[in-house]
Amino acid sequence: ARRKFVVGNWKMHGLHAQLPEIGAIAKAAEAAPGVDTALCVPFTLIERAAAVAGAMPIGAQDVHAEKQGAHTGCISAAMAYEAGARLTIVGHSERRADQHETSHDAWAKAVAAHGAGLDVILCVGETEAERDAGRAERVVQAQIEKSVPDLAQASWFTLAYEPRWAIGTGRTPQPEEIASIHAIARAKLRRMVGEEADGIRILYGGSVTGANAADILALDHVDGALVGGASLTAEKFVPIIEAAK
Ligand code: 13P
Repeated sequence: ARRKFVVGNWKMHGLHAQLPEIGAIAKAAEAAPGVDTALCVPFTLIERAAAVAGAMPIGAQDVHAEKQGAHTGCISAAMAYEAGARLTIVGHSERRADQHETSHDAWAKAVAAHGAGLDVILCVGETEAERDAGRAERVVQAQIEKSVPDLAQASWFTLAYEPRWAIGTGRTPQPEEIASIHAIARAKLRRMVGEEADGIRILYGGSVTGANAADILALDHVDGALVGGASLTAEKFVPIIEAAK
């Protein structure tokens, strides 16, 4: 059976003053040994977050696809690893939208991250216009096709379904819509990586809170949650970890 995986994504939030929150979240994670918990923080917090997080892995939110080079302002997977990261998100919809990243970019970043020893959470998800046009399933399948590495293994690779219109909006798809996309994503993974797909976790992300987490986490093929706003404080995030128990 797949262990539940609850991951916080702090996005562009967090100064040193927030380190005690990370300590409190890590404590709650320790008290939930049946759940895998991780927190993806800004690069500038990785080293100190790792120092206060105990056994809870700290992650990055992006890495560059190249090992090194003339890429002003970018961070390589090895740099993130050296700072203390043990996983990274790639292909987040905010990077696809704001930094014009493609599924091919997400693929290259996933391969680079794995090569540097980082676990990978790769995000896919449709826009509201795509959903309204009845294209959500096809869009997600195409993103998986183009961005999931052939060598993806459950030991280091996680997929996250985050419908773009559900991020930070307080709106979530209907439970049957989430279950349907997750089932389609699993079937697509099976066609790409065979039986290994049965062990790969598929997280749901987009307006997950303590109030809706239990219902979402109970759905078939939903193996955890990728949480933005509700991961910023222990008060909001811990109930989501508890809901995964
Ligand atoms: P919210 O939980 O704030 O909607 O963000 C979801 C997300 O984008 C996590 O990566």
